[in-house]
Amino acid sequence: MATASFDTARRETRAVPPIEKAPEVTALSRLPGRKRSLVGLSRADLKQALLEIGVAERETRMRVSQVWHWIYVRGARDFAEMTNVGKGLKAQLADAFTLDRPEVVSEQVSRDGTRKWLLRMAPTGAHDHNRGAEIECVYIPGDDRGTLCVSSQVGCTLTCSFCHTGTQRLVRNLSTAEIVSQLVVARDALGDFAGQMPSKDGGEVGRLVTNIVFMGMGEPLYNLDAVIDAVAVMSDQEGLALSRRRITVSTSGVVPQIERLGLEANAMLAISLHAVRDDLRDELVPLNRKYPIAQLLEACRNYPGVSNARRITFEYVMLKGVNDSDADARALVRLLKGIPAKINLIPFNPWPGSKYECSDWERIDHFSEIVFNAGYASPVRTPRGRDILAACGQLKSETEKLRARARMMLEEGLGAEGFYAGGDD
Ligand code: SAH
Ligand code: SF4
Repeated sequence: MATASFDTARRETRAVPPIEKAPEVTALSRLPGRKRSLVGLSRADLKQALLEIGVAERETRMRVSQVWHWIYVRGARDFAEMTNVGKGLKAQLADAFTLDRPEVVSEQVSRDGTRKWLLRMAPTGAHDHNRGAEIECVYIPGDDRGTLCVSSQVGCTLTCSFCHTGTQRLVRNLSTAEIVSQLVVARDALGDFAGQMPSKDGGEVGRLVTNIVFMGMGEPLYNLDAVIDAVAVMSDQEGLALSRRRITVSTSGVVPQIERLGLEANAMLAISLHAVRDDLRDELVPLNRKYPIAQLLEACRNYPGVSNARRITFEYVMLKGVNDSDADARALVRLLKGIPAKINLIPFNPWPGSKYECSDWERIDHFSEIVFNAGYASPVRTPRGRDILAACGQLKSETEKLRARARMMLEEGLGAEGFYAGGDD
């Protein structure tokens, strides 16, 4: 694939990976002349929006509750559906706002039922060529749960050497609304709003999306304000109503933000550990040079609310010949001693141009046995959605790749129109 060589070339030119480059742009809520969508807003922002169109302060409490219910419980797509909102206010709302979701550019369904959506956000301006940034979001159905893997940024400023997202050039933070909208889109697509899931006997059956993991594109702790607000909206019991205990935020180890995540989002924590020695982790997760393993584990020990009932998940990607020896497994167990922990072994998901291979199954078996014997249950994460490149670390929008290539062609004076028009890549 032509794009693979481009990715590889670019990685090689980055002699020193940027460790903590701030995301370049935060999403603007609207461009001049565009109506803003109310979907994904927090209660405070929804109140502000209502004040802007002249709703009296004393009425806002009731009005916010009404509109909130229609958006987050019923999945309303049109203000006309809001039967308990007066005609005048409905007209005012429709005049000033929309209930638009991000555009679903494509939906892929894997043989195992995993679904991946490519979503185009509303345009934010010159940064995304007035076209709207694109992100991916994945739904993984299970026996007793349905997990939605959401993105917190477009791309990622970090450059973990085994991760495809880290090769994406266009990077910006997602807004709270853009993060929450991923759940709204998933519920739309799955028919997972109240009243849309009738069972055979006419009653309502359980929800399809029960869990959220912030394991899509981006480093959530570099966009913590928006992530905290998004967790609040997703777990609002009069709205989307997920349990905070079923929302997990995964970080590559932004140590100074970990405590705040616990205090303000009260979400479950996952740490992308991947190595037991600093020299190796420096290479795999370059942020380790700034916040080494000892500091990271200290922050875990102090994570607000951590207990045997609320364990921290340690993710460990299995890289052949790199971090997968028996000695590594034993060191891992020693390292985590005393921390209420779960260990999640992730088979490495290769992507075009990646320099690693996944450990053999036999090796993973051995490794997991050592971990199991130390008291950690069923630690290997089954790869899901492999046929649609939906697995961990593979998320990188095709259109972003097209755009990168189109940009290159533009720079070379070849013109990009063909690629925007839907090239054959
Ligand atoms: N930036 C955050 C969350 C997104 S990545 C973080 O790094 O934790 C979600 C998980 O996928 C992380 O554990 C990450 O290390 C892992 N991952 C990235 N690339 C992968 C790949 N190619 N194969 C398997 N896991 C990968
Ligand atoms: Fe970013 Fe996480 Fe990928 Fe590292 S693993 S580059 S932090 S998305």
